[in-house]
Amino acid sequence: MSDLTRRKFLRTAAATGAAATALPACSSVNVATRRQSPVAIASANGVEAVRIAVERMQAGMRPVDAAVAGVEVVENDPKDSSVGLGGLPNEDGIVTLDACVMDGPSGLGGAVAHLENIKNPAQVALKVMRRTDHVLLVGAGALEFARAHGFKEEDLLTEESRRAWLRWREKRSSIDDWLSPEENGEHGTEWFEEFKDKTGTIHLGAVDANGQIGSCTTTSGLAFKIAGRVGDSPLLGCGNYCDNDVGTGGSTGRGEACILSNGGAFIVQQMALGKSPTDACLETVRRVVRMTKVKRLLDDKGRPNFQVKFYATNKQGQYGAAAMYPGKFAVCDADGPRREDLAALYEQR
Ligand code: ASP
Repeated sequence: MSDLTRRKFLRTAAATGAAATALPACSSVNVATRRQSPVAIASANGVEAVRIAVERMQAGMRPVDAAVAGVEVVENDPKDSSVGLGGLPNEDGIVTLDACVMDGPSGLGGAVAHLENIKNPAQVALKVMRRTDHVLLVGAGALEFARAHGFKEEDLLTEESRRAWLRWREKRSSIDDWLSPEENGEHGTEWFEEFKDKTGTIHLGAVDANGQIGSCTTTSGLAFKIAGRVGDSPLLGCGNYCDNDVGTGGSTGRGEACILSNGGAFIVQQMALGKSPTDACLETVRRVVRMTKVKRLLDDKGRPNFQVKFYATNKQGQYGAAAMYPGKFAVCDADGPRREDLAALYEQR
């Protein structure tokens, strides 16, 4: 079945209400069978990141280091409001970052959560993996550790992100003392970028030409989250996981859904049971659907009212991605960096 035919089939099945249980397990929609090229998969904001990751693996870099080198360009980009510098802050206006890495050959991982003032949390996560006997450092301890390793502190809140936060803060409630210009009878809000999407992150899974595996996820988390909130991105087994005998699994989107379904580990487990990367991701989306029961998270058709996306590569260099609703992902192999459609369980939100 061709790529397009199968995607159409998936959406039709979903539209007729058969989606969650009746989809047959068929082969991957995105199969890269050539093994001479390393492969990197990422969220849609990672086209440049996957290009860099593949280039580094071609030069002999270990996949986990190539993954971190790739996501660094997104962490450093002040225009990406979901990661690193310029990431949207929490409800108090403070940018806090989460990241984790996992290295297939050694079976080790490292992570930081609720890290302030350091724009490259994925690199700090690498240090946790290589220079401690721990896996996860959080908050003030993570910052102390980063300082000890020479990471420079800087203000991560850009002017654009501050304005977006102020807009959100002023419009949040009519019963507090913060007033938006409109509430105070003023016009001229044209300089406010109205904020629509509170999600965003980069996950990157990497497999080199010898089938060695590494992966990374880095984020500023959900915009305007409650102070102290940590999502799936720094949690190994949730927003990121890899097993050198099998492949990588990662996630972006509603982190709470990924934590509750153990998305990353579940994807890898599904591939270990024989599923293709795309089918493993689809099975994980279905698991989220099954586990989403409370009314506030469902739309009027009974479907989850949020987006969650899963990405996978396997040891053979096959890759795939799937989500609740349509979207894109980034991939790079011998054919170069590009965006592709992911497999969607439902046609539209
Ligand atoms: N998964 C991230 C989190 O929940 C956010 C995102 O990917 O949009 O922190």
